[in-house]
Amino acid sequence: MTLLRGRIPGLAGGLVCLLAVGMALAETPAPGSDNPGQALWQPAVFADFPVRIELTDRAAVTRLLETVPLAAFSREDLRTDPVTGQVILLPRITEAEARRLTAAGIAFTRLTDLEQAGRRQAEAAWALVPTKDAQIWTAYPTHAQIGTTFAAYQDSFPTLCRTFSWGQTVLGRELWGLVVSADPQTTAAEPEVRLSSSMHGDEPVGMVMLMNLAEYLLENYGEPGFEDVTSLVDNYEIHIMPLHNPDGYIAGTRVNANGADLNRNYPAPTGGQVSQIETTHFMDYAQAHHFVVSLNGHGGALVMNYPWDYTFALTPDDAALQLLSLEYSTWNLPMYNGWFDQGITNGAEWYVATGTLQDWVYYATDCLDVTLEIGDIKWPAATQLDDVWDDNRESLLHYVKAARYGVNGVVTAEDTGLPLDAMVTVFGNGESVSTDPAHGDYYKLLPTGSFELTFTADGYLPLTVPGVSTVWGTPTVLDVTLEPDPSPVPDLRVVQLTARPNPFNPLTRLDFTVPRTGRVHLAVYDVQGRLVRTLARTDLEAGTHHRVWDGRNEAGSPSASGIYFARLDLGAESVATKLMLVK
Ligand code: ZN
Repeated sequence: MTLLRGRIPGLAGGLVCLLAVGMALAETPAPGSDNPGQALWQPAVFADFPVRIELTDRAAVTRLLETVPLAAFSREDLRTDPVTGQVILLPRITEAEARRLTAAGIAFTRLTDLEQAGRRQAEAAWALVPTKDAQIWTAYPTHAQIGTTFAAYQDSFPTLCRTFSWGQTVLGRELWGLVVSADPQTTAAEPEVRLSSSMHGDEPVGMVMLMNLAEYLLENYGEPGFEDVTSLVDNYEIHIMPLHNPDGYIAGTRVNANGADLNRNYPAPTGGQVSQIETTHFMDYAQAHHFVVSLNGHGGALVMNYPWDYTFALTPDDAALQLLSLEYSTWNLPMYNGWFDQGITNGAEWYVATGTLQDWVYYATDCLDVTLEIGDIKWPAATQLDDVWDDNRESLLHYVKAARYGVNGVVTAEDTGLPLDAMVTVFGNGESVSTDPAHGDYYKLLPTGSFELTFTADGYLPLTVPGVSTVWGTPTVLDVTLEPDPSPVPDLRVVQLTARPNPFNPLTRLDFTVPRTGRVHLAVYDVQGRLVRTLARTDLEAGTHHRVWDGRNEAGSPSASGIYFARLDLGAESVATKLMLVK
């Protein structure tokens, strides 16, 4: 187990684990471990190569892509000099694209292809599996090795972890995960944190880092000198989902087996259709849990990229998202000292993208998700993975720890003493969070300051607590008890629509209840009754839902200050609410 390299005490534990992995490979294949990668494995054909293109500004990028649409171009290939505004593109292009660039008079420099070595080396190693031990830490694991390794962890550390599957890919490959937490078979009043990676199949470094993290947490739990690890495993529930796109990984492609870019496949706050099964599975898993903080790993740049991606408007949680991103970048010196100021960037400021995972997670769940761009080289030689782990280990630990920063606590009912399904709203911050109904616990990441929190729950009187002080880096604990509301319970069988915040700027969130499954139309109109923006025109299940309106019309232009109406139609039923945009 060369991963250990003498840095981690408790080598005996590492040997036990190695034996367990070997046995798992020899005796009991994990579910779905028939490794379709072996059957489908083919040597990669490198039809493209990396180049450097220097442009004067962003407008020139748009013109270039209109003139010569570069098929593999992604925003990970884009760098902007913060001083001069000069833009550098580092895409992979084909010979045909190179000819078109030349014909269009656009200069480029061909670069050494540092990704070839990593890809070829990984593929050569896969060809030797399964005669080789699962040494995942200094080589890229096969898809099957992720499953067998997690199964072996569950056998070796049954009180610290459990495996799970969050679905199957287009080609039927298992999407494996591992929950690391003391007492992993039950949930507790502790923050759930999701760490996932490699929805772009050709960006596998984050996947390896998450495999390393699982090993590191399990092997070092309870060991002297690893009190930070023990505390994380005791007080957090960590969901590790290392490979989001196994079909793409095995094919060496960014896209999934249907040719779809999974990081453009999520519903944006403005709408959008999900077309890929991996996306559906991921959304189901995210909504079935109550994640507080998460990240998704990518490659091609070295930066923490936080929402929004789809709009230049800042989220109501901008300060907390920056601090959370800094928790990662501060411990990763190449990232902190790299291209981006302090190693972090707002998504849209870097490059606007619609349908990204982090935007969906932010508006559709209570979780703050940040995109981890883990290195300029998407698929470096495996000999570098050890150094990359050194750069990311402390960052990952500190990132998980931050799920308790700001305010957290438990909301219970005064009459029953039981935990409540409650909403926690911070004045001046448009994104409320809800409690985990099973335990009543909530987590609201906030920067250092003083805040007013309001707690609401169906059937209970609202409670406002002013002057709650927070210091980033130290959790503030605020447990509250709500009194029953003596007034009659509102009829939940009718269509309802509310907006928060209202008045608002720049975003408001429309929460609505539909009493039965059906076609829902939700739109914003001006005072003359003219359509400003359609927010939903889709079939929805009975229950509560919400959409965000960013004050923009269908064309994306900001609306003027004033009064608007949001109207929800479900069959013949209709409900409207007044919105006030204040600038
Ligand atoms: Zn990516």
